[in-house]
Amino acid sequence: MIKEVIEPLRAQLERLNQIAFYKQKIENAGIHPSDTKALDDFQNIPFTTTSELMKELRKKPSESSLFSDDVTRINFSPSGHDLYPVYHTHNDLQKMHQVCGRSLEAAGVQKGDICAVTFGYHLFIAGLFYQGQLEYYGAKVIPVGPGESERAVQLINDYQVSVLISNPTFAMKLTQKGIPSVRILFVGGEPFTSVEGYPEKVREAFGREITIIDSYSMALCMPIARSCTHGTGLHVMDDFVYAEVIDPETGNAVPYGEKGELVLTHLHKEAAPLLRYRTGDLTLLEKKRCECGRELTLPKSVFGRTDEMLKIKGVKFWPSQISGILRAFPGLTSRYQVVVRTKGGVDFLRLTVEGDDTSSPGIDELSKRLKQETLLAFNEIRVANKLEEGPAVVDERKGRRF
Ligand SMILES: [Zn+2]
Repeated sequence: MIKEVIEPLRAQLERLNQIAFYKQKIENAGIHPSDTKALDDFQNIPFTTTSELMKELRKKPSESSLFSDDVTRINFSPSGHDLYPVYHTHNDLQKMHQVCGRSLEAAGVQKGDICAVTFGYHLFIAGLFYQGQLEYYGAKVIPVGPGESERAVQLINDYQVSVLISNPTFAMKLTQKGIPSVRILFVGGEPFTSVEGYPEKVREAFGREITIIDSYSMALCMPIARSCTHGTGLHVMDDFVYAEVIDPETGNAVPYGEKGELVLTHLHKEAAPLLRYRTGDLTLLEKKRCECGRELTLPKSVFGRTDEMLKIKGVKFWPSQISGILRAFPGLTSRYQVVVRTKGGVDFLRLTVEGDDTSSPGIDELSKRLKQETLLAFNEIRVANKLEEGPAVVDERKGRRF
């Protein structure tokens, strides 16, 4: 495995060394691409942060070293109130389609399948991403686009669509009007596997056994990971992207199974490639061979943002994890407020959640789940019928609120 990944990584580094933005970074670190003989060497390469990447991407194409004459598609993605471009060459698109084709096959998509894509096609990448891979694979695709559920249902029924590509909320809406021909659902665009109980809810809405494939991508890197039919989590597309999980404080790699920040490096991408890009996404990576042949897996996709990290009683804690846990409790909403203060010289952690379940068994169960997932014992858990608007996290120790 290590041998398999180090070769494309070194080749990619040689390519990146031709791009001024990365050449500068690699040189500043005193590294020559040919010195990268093992994954340990690769860990000496500096990270790329979102802000430096955005600065380069937002330059006019003629001034950005991440743009090249070979670019054939320019998608955009929102960041705050602005859009930034996502460049692809013909080879980039081919590679993307090839890698995805493997997972389409594993999911049971057949060439005779008629597929409906309900993601957007204008500017953004998701609609064309699926359109391209399904066409490349040889299936038949209807570019339905988002919204207009009546028309989507009619098309799905008229053309006996068997593969639906949609965010889970929209898929559930479509099931209310009956879409019996669908046997495979590709979901994306919303947290799914990471939200407890959500996959079961979607299955229930379909009311029959269907294959659901979850995926995790970001505009700058599509695809990153996709689940298979074995329910083992989201497998990293390791022939497309090299994934590391690091301690967000030290930047050091964490062992498999430990939470940290996901860092991505494209193995082949030509236009706007990523090199040790710090995603800010909190996840954990496992290495375990699945029956489908893939082995690097994000068992729960991503479940928070690393820039929100707090240290409580010496334990790293990411408050955004709480929403995912709360969704498993039908009597509670996913809203919460965490207050951290020092009491008697030690950290004191109070959680207020919103809902109408104030029963002790409910709170005990929540306390148990929080302990399992965060390794922290919450000192106090309260339920409020309505949580006031305000910051979800108040760290009184540091005067931090967000
Ligand atoms: Zn698998």
